[in-house]
Formats: sequence, C-alpha cells, structure tokens
Amino acid sequence: MCQRCQSLIKAIDRYLAKADDDLADELKDEGRAIPQDSVQMVSDMEDGIAAALVSQTNYFIKKIKAQKSVAALMDVFDEIKAGDVYCDEIATVAMEQFKKYIPKMVVDYTAAVDGGIKITAVSKRTTAWIDSWSHELSEIMKLNSHTEIENILKTALENGDSIATVTRTILDSGIRDEYYKARRVAMTEMFRAQNVSKYESSMQTPCITGKKWRHTGIGKPRPNHQDMDGQTVDKGKPFTLIGADGATYYPMYPIDPLLPAGEAINCHCITEDVVDESILGLPVEERQRLRDEALAALDEEWEKEVDEKYRAMVGLPTEE
Ligand SMILES: [Zn+2]
Repeated sequence: MCQRCQSLIKAIDRYLAKADDDLADELKDEGRAIPQDSVQMVSDMEDGIAAALVSQTNYFIKKIKAQKSVAALMDVFDEIKAGDVYCDEIATVAMEQFKKYIPKMVVDYTAAVDGGIKITAVSKRTTAWIDSWSHELSEIMKLNSHTEIENILKTALENGDSIATVTRTILDSGIRDEYYKARRVAMTEMFRAQNVSKYESSMQTPCITGKKWRHTGIGKPRPNHQDMDGQTVDKGKPFTLIGADGATYYPMYPIDPLLPAGEAINCHCITEDVVDESILGLPVEERQRLRDEALAALDEEWEKEVDEKYRAMVGLPTEE
C-alpha cells in the first residue's frame, strides 16, 4: 500500500476513534448507561445494517439490469420486490444487539439509583418487544428502500430514461448511501435501547415512582420536544406529546416506537427518575422483595394481555 494511502487510512481511523470517544463522552454526560458498550453497539449494528443494505442494492441492480426497458421492469417490479429478503438480516442484527445490551443497560440504570437490589431478568414484555420491534424495523427499512427505488423508476419512466440511466441513478445519486443510513439507524436504535432500558429499570426499581421528560439540548432541537421539558408522570403512565404533525401521541419514553420517525431520529431527550426517598430508605431485603414482586406483576399482566389477544383472535370469550 502506498505511503499516502496508509497515512489516509490512519487519519480516518483516528477520526473514527475520536468520533467514538466523543460519543462515549456525550453518553456519559447525558447520564446514559454503559457508554463504551453503547458505542460498540452502534458500531456493530452499523456494520450489520450496512452489509444488508449493500446486498439489497446489489440485488436490485442485478434484477434491473436484466430488463430491456423501464416499462418492462415496471411489469415485473412487484415480483422483484417479493424476492427481496436482504433486509431480513437487519432483524437478526438488531435482535442480537438488543439482546446483548438491553439487559446490561437495565442493570446499569438500576445500579445508578439503587445499588442494593439485584436485577436478575428483563420483563417478558420487553423481551417480546425486542423480537417484534427488530422485525418491524427490518420491515420499515425494506419498505423505505422499495419506495426509494420505485420513485427513481417512476421518474425514469416519465423521462423515457434507459435501464443504464436507472442503475446509474441508483448507484450514484447518494440516495442509497448504505453507510450513512446504517449509521443513522444504528444511532437511533442505540438511543431507543437506552430509553427502553431506562423504562424497564424504573418499572423494576421500587424507589422510582415517576419520570420527568428532559430535553438535553444536544443535536438540532425540536421545539415540541423542548416544550416537553419538565413534563412529569407516574412511571407506568405515558407522556403526552403533541407531534410536529399536530397529532397527539402517548409515548412511554422518548423514541417510543409508537412515535413517527420524524419524532425519533436524532432525538436526545431523556427521562429523569422521580425517586421516593422513603422507599430507598427501606432495608435492602425489603426493596429486593418489592422488586421481585414488581417483576412478577409485570409478567403476569403481560401474560394476561397476550392471552386476551389470543382469545380475541380466535373468537373465545375473554375471561373476567
Ligand atoms: Zn427529543
């Protein structure tokens, strides 16, 4: 390798290492759990998602090149979309990362408030969420890709462009910038994991009774999130957020998956715990017993919900 290339690669490595250090520092300042591990999570998730998106682009380019004209391509495009399995890998990547880091984050968040009690498991609801959200995320990314490519095809059809122009547009326009996209998604998902974990920790930690929305001021501020600053609710109750689209949302935490992407991407809002000092002052065995009971109640409630959903689905009467 030439001298210049080597020094360039070193410079890029230094830049990335510095960016990672900065991110770890920022996470620490925001009071996030396991800052170093979280940086690793972003990096691993980014690699996995980028690889899936690159495979997806290659698949579409290959299929598009096999067609003689854009009109012919349009006729078989539904078939081509149906053959796109490349984003499925994103579900696997996301699930792996969530499963690896969410339990650690929950333990870390609890330790910061009550170092005496032990968190031995993540609730069934959160475990099920990891699975369902990972699949939903891959589905969303798949559909976004399809919309992107379809828009290029529509324009090409209107302009009477050739297949060669279409493939060039897909490859050169930057619209498929897989690494940029992967980075953005990985960051959002790491912050989402943080917030899910903090919520889970609060539900298992007896001395935490409520939560306060905090706008950290990092990144480009959203005025409607600035308005949320200070909103305080019981830990098991949702916040009320007026979206930029005018709709009212009830998120349990910032970046709750029920929020649209416009309210989630790059959101650095956090929640602050409301702590009942009298509960924190109870003997540790008592706090642990309350925690164990809280988890059992959470799991029982979740199982009941799943059971009712199943009964409704198959038309059985719901139990009183
Ligand atoms: Zn925010």
